[in-house]
Amino acid sequence: MAKLTFDKERCKGCGLCVQACPKQILAVSDTQSNGKGYYVVVTTDEDKCIACAFCATMCPDCVIKVEK
Ligand code: SF4
Ligand code: SF4
Repeated sequence: MAKLTFDKERCKGCGLCVQACPKQILAVSDTQSNGKGYYVVVTTDEDKCIACAFCATMCPDCVIKVEK
């Protein structure tokens, strides 16, 4: 099963990874924010992740780590 890790202090909540995910399991949270005040990305159903790493490739800030 894939494992996603988010370095949330680097996230700007831009949503590029949300658009990139073919399984549509990423979302910018409307409750969780980081120390800079940005709402951060979260996964809505990690069990559906196929570890394609499109999200990690798309993120300009290297927030997401994908492990198989
Ligand atoms: S993880 Fe990266 S691409 Fe996704 S919202 Fe945060 S900064 Fe943007
Ligand atoms: S690795 Fe692929 S399926 Fe998993 S969250 Fe990222 S884009 Fe979505």
